[in-house]
Amino acid sequence: MGTRLPEQPVTPLQRIDDNVTRRAGITLWLKRDDLIHPDISGNKWRKLKYNIGEAVRQRAGTLLTFGGAFSNHLYAVAAAAKQCGFRAVGIVRGHELTESASPTLTFCHRAGMQLEFVTREAYRLKDQAPGIRKIIEETGAFVIPEGGSNPLALPGVAEMVYEIRAQSDSPPGYFAVAAGTGGTAAGILSTGSRLLAFPVLKNGQFLEEEISSLTGYSFPSSHLRLETGYHFGGYAKHTPQLLQFLRDFEDRHGVPLEQVYTAKMLMGLYDLISRNAFRPGESIVAVHTGGLQGRLSL
Ligand SMILES: *Cc1c(COP(=O)(O)O)cnc(C)c1O
Repeated sequence: MGTRLPEQPVTPLQRIDDNVTRRAGITLWLKRDDLIHPDISGNKWRKLKYNIGEAVRQRAGTLLTFGGAFSNHLYAVAAAAKQCGFRAVGIVRGHELTESASPTLTFCHRAGMQLEFVTREAYRLKDQAPGIRKIIEETGAFVIPEGGSNPLALPGVAEMVYEIRAQSDSPPGYFAVAAGTGGTAAGILSTGSRLLAFPVLKNGQFLEEEISSLTGYSFPSSHLRLETGYHFGGYAKHTPQLLQFLRDFEDRHGVPLEQVYTAKMLMGLYDLISRNAFRPGESIVAVHTGGLQGRLSL
């Protein structure tokens, strides 16, 4: 039987000030959720918090979830399960893979997660695939969806927004966040905030429906701006310009980024700021969602 995650530390709200923000006359803050925990980082902690609480309430002994070979979510669930005393099963997309296919999978394996490598077809069916359903029945696992993004993810993310309100004199005009499955974006929107979401995959427009559905269609459409032009080639793809931005930002501000999510969001945001997409005087909180274990060594 597992326990809940401990109370997380309040993460810093760091002012980011440079030529670009000054020229545009905007105030930019970075919510340093990368500092929540080295392995259960950023938005993954926030999204898991009430999922794990529900698993405890249901007296489940096992957490089961889904991910690709480089999934930060799989990594976080492996670490959280170990910390909270759950058994963990990771359903991995790719029948041909093994635990040495990536540093993420090696970490999950070493943390004690049982890895089940399934075909793309079975993966697409998720808990409806016969083999996966059998594992769930045998283990009585509490099932957490891909990315940890379900309605239980939202209150944990909303707590981050309340934390920020308590840390600042006035609420920000906009939040900015990278989006993969959209659960983090949905949690921010559930607080009535305005949000710029930066899909890290190609054709990110589909996230509008995903995000709206996760919130129960509860926010005005004007509150969500999906900035679909900053995927840099697609999920886990990057360009020399993106890596250059990442290094420059790290050097200027002393904040580590990674190339899959946070650098794309910030490069997109900086592009919008320098194109005067915001009124002078506007304030923006960008969320550092963590994921630094996946940073390329540059
Ligand atoms: C998973 C992840 C995201 C995407 O979050 P979603 O809720 O799936 O949209 C963003 N940033 C980092 C660092 C992540 O690991």
